[in-house]
Amino acid sequence: MNNRVRQQFPALQQRINGQPLCYLDSAATAQKPMSVITAVQQFYRRENANVHRAGYQLAAIATDKFESARAQVAAFFGMAANELVWTKGCTESINLVAHSWALGHICAHDRMLVSGLEHHANLVPWQQVCKATGAHLDIIPVQDSGELDLNAYQELLQHKPKLVAISHVSNALGTVNPLHTMISQAKAVGAIVLVDGAQAAAHLAIDVPALGADFYVFSGHKMYGPTGIGGLLAKPCMLEQFEPWQTGGEMVETVSYQEATWAPLPYRLEAGTPNIAGAIGLAKATEFMTQLSSDWRQQESDLLAYLRFKLSQLPYIQLIGNAAQQVAVQSFVSVTMHAQDVAQYLDQSGVAVRVGKHCAHPLLDALGVDATLRASLACYSTEQDVDQLIAALEFAHTAEA
Ligand code: PLP
Repeated sequence: MNNRVRQQFPALQQRINGQPLCYLDSAATAQKPMSVITAVQQFYRRENANVHRAGYQLAAIATDKFESARAQVAAFFGMAANELVWTKGCTESINLVAHSWALGHICAHDRMLVSGLEHHANLVPWQQVCKATGAHLDIIPVQDSGELDLNAYQELLQHKPKLVAISHVSNALGTVNPLHTMISQAKAVGAIVLVDGAQAAAHLAIDVPALGADFYVFSGHKMYGPTGIGGLLAKPCMLEQFEPWQTGGEMVETVSYQEATWAPLPYRLEAGTPNIAGAIGLAKATEFMTQLSSDWRQQESDLLAYLRFKLSQLPYIQLIGNAAQQVAVQSFVSVTMHAQDVAQYLDQSGVAVRVGKHCAHPLLDALGVDATLRASLACYSTEQDVDQLIAALEFAHTAEA
């Protein structure tokens, strides 16, 4: 199937440094299929107008497409249109919850709990909330396998945190956290739960109500959609508790020189002109994923097993992370070369991987690793990509020997 899928991604048809592009950095951002590119182009060519404002026909078309996109993207996660607030992506969604909800609900002496696996986007905003409120941040420790220590988690829950913030999938290691168990345990002590779905949305079937998370955040660009669009999913009873954090146009109902009243949800949390083309493109991306063959997730999982096997055959490569549940991502280091040097060789061979700390500095510190190389897969990845990576690693280590 992958060759048929792959043909829909023009960026993958090019050569880099004379080699076919081997794109193994989809965890940073996924490539875009033609259907998404065309939808964005079509909007700017024929449908461009601002939404919710004017009465003329073009504006009505733009508004209709923008709001249909909201319903379609929300439904992709099992939610209703009024339960999706558009943002730029996970970072902005988490900051929105931190500013608009947490600052009004977290007090001095409260505790919040985040996992030791988090991307900085799901750590630093909570540190800031603690600074502003005097609350205390606890961290769920990570084991060498890249899995969270669930016994320690249960103990930390005894402090009755007000908020538990965890990623669905770790961006650095690909670990899939056992959310059903973790969320029901958090709910049992009365915590509000935020899930960072940045690395899950392109790989797992996600039903937010079934998971039981109060807040679920995602980034469109990691799920084959445009950059600069993403969202916060939450029930209206949670969103009602938010103070608008940005004010101005689009989010008001009435305005006088003295004061303003707020528009209904979710608009009151979306000040200013939104990323209209981005939302329309993202709706197309969810359509693209829904239309993939029924076994694409299994194929991705088989390819990850193949990648892990091939890497483990190289004596100078050490895999980092070995969770029982892992998707689409494999981190590794060379025992003879620095990760940055390896990455340069890979680039010369047309192989794009991420190198460094993956915006998860505390996690890499906890694992005792300075930097890793991270290969990440998507629905268009193939065994040939893995083989090209392995050949490039062999070349790098032979050249340096
Ligand atoms: N959370 C995780 C797990 C991520 O992997 C990323 C990006 O890599 C983010 C949050 C931040 O996403 P964005 O930069 O799209 O806001």
